[in-house]
Order: sequence, then structure tokens, then C-alpha cells
Amino acid sequence: MRIDLHTHSNVSDGTQPPAELISAAHDAGLDVIALTDHDSTDGWAEAAEAARRLGVVLVPGMEVSCRTPEGVTVHLLSYLHDPASLGLLEEITKSKDARLSRAERMVERLAEDYPLNWDDVTQHVAPGATVGRPHIADALVAAGVVADRNEAFASILTSHSRYFLTHYAPEPAFAVELIRAAGGVPVFAHPVARSRGRVADRRTFYDMIDAGLAGVEVDHRDNSADGRAWLRQLAAERDLLITGSSDYHGTGKPNLLGENVTSAEALARIEDLGTGTAAVR
Ligand code: AMP
Ligand code: ZN
Ligand code: FE
Ligand code: FE
Repeated sequence: MRIDLHTHSNVSDGTQPPAELISAAHDAGLDVIALTDHDSTDGWAEAAEAARRLGVVLVPGMEVSCRTPEGVTVHLLSYLHDPASLGLLEEITKSKDARLSRAERMVERLAEDYPLNWDDVTQHVAPGATVGRPHIADALVAAGVVADRNEAFASILTSHSRYFLTHYAPEPAFAVELIRAAGGVPVFAHPVARSRGRVADRRTFYDMIDAGLAGVEVDHRDNSADGRAWLRQLAAERDLLITGSSDYHGTGKPNLLGENVTSAEALARIEDLGTGTAAVR
């Protein structure tokens, strides 16, 4: 069984519609795929239809952006939650709205120095999609300012850039509680991705575990080698499940479907714990 539990469609910052993503997963020889768009479950229905048609198992999911009081970004995967659960829905709606005004304000800043306006960005955002820096990157690519998203993130769009702004995001332990309350299974995404910036400290991990964290994404290309070893030790000590995933974004990132995979045992644990929605098979 080949199981990839972290992918994005154009419902957030991936480049393919959900049905195309499932088709790509089928072509890549995956048996199980989770759709985990940023702060949105809007792709679930289309993905489920394609999954049934192609015989791929779909684990409906989402990636929730969080921030600690110290300003460290934490991404939290949620699997099999009830998308109508109010507490979680309210938080992601708040984040999604805040992402939109934050992107508009970033573009205002960028427009002072680059040939770029808000219309140029919206051309790269599917209707209703969760807006993020990758869409601004796409507009910068189209304007000939950078070659690709990666170059944009390495320069103009880094969190150290003068154009960078943050947006509202819930605290990690609170988001864990909301996911649990929605019957979902919270898994800490790329927890030791040091290349991306500051990572969570031990205290943040322990607060999240106390709140009901179910697992950690160990095998992810952005996790450091020593970080992975530490995560495996933590998982053993605290009985957390372990996942491995691609974090595929279509052509928006080099990450390939199935480049990291999750065990059938871990998936079984996720399905045991998740009571808000069933996997589609
Ligand atoms: P935002 O959530 O708007 O701050 O943007 C962060 C998102 O951009 C992350 O969730 C990643 O999916 C994506 N991202 C981060 N680094 C890169 C990169 N080097 N190339 C393409 N996408 C990236
Ligand atoms: Zn993304
Ligand atoms: Fe992430
Ligand atoms: Fe992701």
C-alpha cells in the first residue's frame, strides 16, 4: 500500500483542481491520498467523486496554519474531521479572511517596487481558494521578476523580507482542541522544517500533546535529519503516530506525489481515531 497523506490542490496553493490531483495520484501508483488544502475543505466533494471513480482511497483532510505567541509558525494537519463543526470552521474562516487582506496589503507594498497589482495576483487564485504567498509568487513569475515560486520565496517573499506580513492564525494547542472537538485527527506537519525558519520549541510540542495531538509528520523533505530522529523518539515516548508525506503542490513545488509515504498501521490508527468524516473508498 502506498499512502501519501499531505497534498494541495488549487482550492489552496496547489496548481491542479482536486479531481486532477486524484488522477495524478492514481497515475503515480498511490493507493491512498489525503487532500489537505490550507484552511479549507472546499475540495473534498470533487476529490471524493474522482477517488470513487478511479479506485483511489481518499482521506479528507486540511492543513491549518497556526502561530505561537512567540511568533513561530506551526502547520497542523487535520484528518477526518467534521467540516461543519462550528469551532474549527470559525477559526479557519477567520484565517482565510485574514489571509486575503494580508495578501492585498503585501501586494500594496510590493507594488511600490515591482510591476504588480492585485488583479495580477487574483488571476492565479481559483475562485474561493485560500490565498497565500504562492499566488503572489505566481504573479511575480508572470511579471518576469523571478523565475519560479522557489526563487520568490528565497528572496522577495521570505519572512525576513520588508514586504512580508503575518496574518491571524490560532494558537497550535487551541487548534488541536478544535480538531479533536470536530472528531478529527491532528498531526503536526513538518515539525522540524528548519530551512523554513524558526521551529516550535519543546514547550509547544508538549502543550499540543496535552491538548490531544495524535501524530507527527516525520518523513517530509523539509524536516532535518537530526530533527527526524528526535521526532521518532518523542513519538515512541508519547505514543504518537508517525506519518510520511510529499506535501505535493502540483507544479508549484518540486515535491513529487509519493516521495514519502505513511504505513498502513498509521493510517488504520487515523481511521480509528477520526469520527467526523469517513475515508472515501
Ligand atoms: P503563506 O501561508 O501565505 O505564508 O505561504 C506559505 C506557503 O507557501 C506554504 O504553505 C508552502 O506551501 C508554500 N511555500 C513555502 N516555501 C515555498 C517555496 N520555496 N516554493 C513554493 N512554495 C512554497
Ligand atoms: Zn502550501
Ligand atoms: Fe505546511
Ligand atoms: Fe502543506
